[in-house]
Amino acid sequence: MRSVGDLRSLRACVRAWKQEGQRIGFVPTMGNLHAGHFSLVELAHRHAERVVASVFVNPTQFGPNEDFGRYPRTLAEDTVGLIEHGCDLLFAPAVEVMYPGGPEHTLKIHVPDVGDTLEGAHRPGHFDGVATVVAKLLVMVEPDVAVFGQKDWQQQLLVRRLVQELALPLEIITGPIVREADGLALSSRNRYLDANQRARAPELHATLEWMRSSFAEGHVRAAVEGAAVRRLERAGFAPDYAAVRRAMDLAIPAEGERTGLMALVAARLGTTRLIDNLCFD
Ligand code: AMP
Repeated sequence: MRSVGDLRSLRACVRAWKQEGQRIGFVPTMGNLHAGHFSLVELAHRHAERVVASVFVNPTQFGPNEDFGRYPRTLAEDTVGLIEHGCDLLFAPAVEVMYPGGPEHTLKIHVPDVGDTLEGAHRPGHFDGVATVVAKLLVMVEPDVAVFGQKDWQQQLLVRRLVQELALPLEIITGPIVREADGLALSSRNRYLDANQRARAPELHATLEWMRSSFAEGHVRAAVEGAAVRRLERAGFAPDYAAVRRAMDLAIPAEGERTGLMALVAARLGTTRLIDNLCFD
């Protein structure tokens, strides 16, 4: 695996592969890689001969009181893991490469509608940072296919919209959520949890399962959502939302709409904010 931090080397490498007729798969990450990330690298390899992964903790997607400063940075371990999982090129740029004029002077891309609800409503500016950095990375890497995780369902919807509106010539693929045996979705933020919080954390996934079965039993959306919030509170979470939404655009389903739905939750355990989701069909 090659490892580069500058644009010239990245482009030279990718363009040489393309000239040989090889397809390029791309997996953007913020590092501190786990089995969820590696599953995306393997998925990318099923669609492309060469896989590029990026590791960049993007400052513009963190709010002022969020965990940018303490976000785990483990590039040496990440590099070993990427080699083991068949990654061909690691792009790990410095902030100046992604934001030559400084992050506070960057252009910003806002994706309306799908970017305004749920995570967008609870983390102001977050999705502008995501959309902006993903657009930059896609222009820099020029992949044929980019892979995102279902774990961040709203994010992959946002990226699909971005790619469509900018008419970027690539395919977006979404990989399934990799979970611990007890149901907790793998996340770089799980390492913030103490033993007591870690023991409670699977309740997030259990609540999603409960929302699915409760909805299937015929309970109305608002009742399911309200009960889910209370259930999370009883388990020691401070929930931001527990929502039943239309999977394709996160719109609130019409009364009687029963297919193509999903549940999404975001909740804090202490200072750690976790998100998860589950499709109903
Ligand atoms: P992050 O490093 O958290 O920005 O995540 C990078 C990519 O990995 C995103 O597309 C995430 O949706 C995806 N991802 C994160 N956690 C998981 C997981 N548990 N299973 C599958 N994909 C994941």
